[in-house]
Amino acid sequence: MYYVSTRDKQKKTYSFSEVLLCGLADDGGLFVPEVYPHISLEQLKRFKQLPYHELAFEIMKLFIGNSIPEQDLKTILTKTYSTSHFKSEDITPVTSVYKNIYLQDLSLGPSLAFKDLAMQFLGNVIEYELVKQNKSLTILGASSGDTVSAAEEAMKSKDRINVVMLTPKVGMSPFQKAQAGAILDKNIFNISIEGHFDICQDLVKEVNKDLAFKNQYSIGAVNSINWGRICAQIVYYIKGYTATVANIGEPLDVVVPSGNFGNILAGYIAKQMGVPLRNLVIATNENKVLDTLFKTGIYRQEDVETTSSPSMDISKASNFERLLFDCVNHDAGTCAKLMSQFEKNKEIDISHLIESLIQNQGFKSQSSNHQQRIDTIKRVYEAANLIIDPHTAAGIYVAESFESDIPILCMETAKPTKFESTVEEALGKVPERDNDFKDLESKEQRFYDVNANAESLKTFIKEHITL
Ligand SMILES: *Cc1c(COP(=O)(O)O)cnc(C)c1O
Repeated sequence: MYYVSTRDKQKKTYSFSEVLLCGLADDGGLFVPEVYPHISLEQLKRFKQLPYHELAFEIMKLFIGNSIPEQDLKTILTKTYSTSHFKSEDITPVTSVYKNIYLQDLSLGPSLAFKDLAMQFLGNVIEYELVKQNKSLTILGASSGDTVSAAEEAMKSKDRINVVMLTPKVGMSPFQKAQAGAILDKNIFNISIEGHFDICQDLVKEVNKDLAFKNQYSIGAVNSINWGRICAQIVYYIKGYTATVANIGEPLDVVVPSGNFGNILAGYIAKQMGVPLRNLVIATNENKVLDTLFKTGIYRQEDVETTSSPSMDISKASNFERLLFDCVNHDAGTCAKLMSQFEKNKEIDISHLIESLIQNQGFKSQSSNHQQRIDTIKRVYEAANLIIDPHTAAGIYVAESFESDIPILCMETAKPTKFESTVEEALGKVPERDNDFKDLESKEQRFYDVNANAESLKTFIKEHITL
């Protein structure tokens, strides 16, 4: 299995190991598999019986090819998808909510959000590759949401890996802030930046532009465009499918609370592999970039509005480029042209392409607002005695508004404990916390203050990171 960049007309190929540690290709494109592997209904029937780590092996070996020997991959996956990191043997159990709506719990990992499913794998597979190649890595990133704690939980105490994560002083919930700050392992560096998330992201980009510095400190990224994350996410769509339908072969609709388009892209790839997913339904919040795109065919970058589902607050959906590449039949020249138009004008009209995605791939979209999510949290609690978080509520809201005649599986992307104040607004009480999190905010926290300019950030890295 080989990978190409969505913007490379020469179609230079890369192995899984090569794409694992780079975010973007040098031409600014994203890495995608040359072809999607196929699985049959017979295989799906067999997969239904497998424990999660074995299913992960069956699926991921198709994407990893010769890059990692099968026995090593098995070891990595057995270690990753175990009850020492996830609170259920099933890893991503499916439960019925009511009517034909089902919920797949993707939030049983250490940071209580779905990002753990891919990040825990990345921690182990990156460590494996670094040992093999005798290298070290400095993971540099910025986030105001769930990425920071998921990445740090996965990378803490790993040899050869340092993590430098920038978070804005404003915008994170006290719980999210404490989740990151309380990770005190010596390879974890939480940096607090005066200003908003955009400033953090710009600083990361600025440092990455200094190629000499980037090489010297071996700077890498684990943001949602990292192919290793998408690859790991495909597994739970297959698990969700086999766990939900009565008979393998029957259709299933899925609803995915979406931001950067990483999660639902994995569902789309599962569908290309032969999993009978019918509709791929995108749920957005007030930041409607994706909803506008799928309703009008206009992909337009927007200013971010801060909402009660902050992990879906995006100005553009970076992983959409991978779907766009398929839409233009892998014509990297056209893809590069469209993306450079988008980067220049902040807007492209691709209605001719979106039409076929809706017709042939079953993409649908719907947004929700704060009050609709609050009402959904309340409704689900009253009808099913289940407390959901505001991101999952965006999904259930959309699942309810689609009159589906078949089962509809909604992804539970975070646990309500992460967003207590919103849940309290809906239910008049906060959800019971797990013991591990009872006194989280009173634990010791470590944040480093760094001035909001690239030179200060580089100086910090020079002073704190030894490779
Ligand atoms: C990251 C995240 C999302 C958005 O996922 P994408 O892959 O960016 O579309 C949704 N919900 C929660 C809780 C998240 O952490």
